[in-house]
Amino acid sequence: RKAELAAWVGKPSVSKDGHRVELAANIGKLEDVQKALDNGAEGIGLFRTEFLYMGRENLPTEEEQFQSYKYVLEKMEGKPVVIRTLDIGGDKELPYMDLPKESNPFLGQRALRLCLERDELFRTQLRALLRASRFGNLKIMFPMIAVREELLEAKRILEEEKQSLMQAGIEVSDSIEVGMMIEVPSAAIAADLFAPDVDFFSIGTNDLIQYTMAADRMNETVSYLYQPAHPSILRLIGMVIDAARREGKWVGLCGEMAGDLASVPLLLGLGLHEFSMSAGSILQTRELIGSLSHSEWQEHAKHALTLRGQDEVQAYVQTQRQGGQ
Ligand code: PEP
Ligand code: MG
Repeated sequence: RKAELAAWVGKPSVSKDGHRVELAANIGKLEDVQKALDNGAEGIGLFRTEFLYMGRENLPTEEEQFQSYKYVLEKMEGKPVVIRTLDIGGDKELPYMDLPKESNPFLGQRALRLCLERDELFRTQLRALLRASRFGNLKIMFPMIAVREELLEAKRILEEEKQSLMQAGIEVSDSIEVGMMIEVPSAAIAADLFAPDVDFFSIGTNDLIQYTMAADRMNETVSYLYQPAHPSILRLIGMVIDAARREGKWVGLCGEMAGDLASVPLLLGLGLHEFSMSAGSILQTRELIGSLSHSEWQEHAKHALTLRGQDEVQAYVQTQRQGGQ
């Protein structure tokens, strides 16, 4: 089985009827890059940079971050690398930062909200990213955006840092794409309001499902509500993809759902461009996509949105797959 899957390394990800998508890897540590390549990743769809900040006593310096980003970009040799700015808070804590205790940390000052408040922390990371940009194909992504003003403010700060580096004579790539995660329902519902101001979206279903269902992703007692294939989630994903397509932008998905074989046919049908997952899931997903017809799954996905619950969706997907599609 392992050898069978290995045959998919280095192959493009194409459906039976010739529709091409990209299968990328989620990484957290530098060691993960080699694993991504060994498993045939066509890019890095999510580099969770919080791991550079965790398990230590102080903030990583600009130089330390620069070295890490440069390493990943060089190792990927021009393949796309989406690096997410710091997503701390919620379940991810930094003891040395002494952040105020909140009664609802997942609804509090996490991720970009914290970065906009602690502007110096954010600027340090952005400078490291900008300096590393000339070593590969960098795309910068902001997490947890709920309203357009946050996106514009993050982009304004990025542009300021870019100008100041360039004035200091430091080379910065002029083709860095800038995108945002869609993990807050407000951003998914109103994706058309954000689309003109980004180069891409990446849907973070781990959080999007949690916030849509109002069910803590870590809480076992409500885990029955954690339903990736619920029509509410599928409709949100469909809305995001449609809004992006109207503006000519691409859409990725970097939550666990991207590598979930039961969800992949629907995501393909909804028109997702990039699937980013843990490296170990890439080859089996490529094999599955090769067995599916994109045009047929476009129809099936449209039908799935009209079903009444996750059970019905899953049963429907199962039936269609047994039908040989
Ligand atoms: C997500 O929310 O789907 C996501 C990819 O981000 P994280 O799991 O790091 O919160
Ligand atoms: Mg998230």
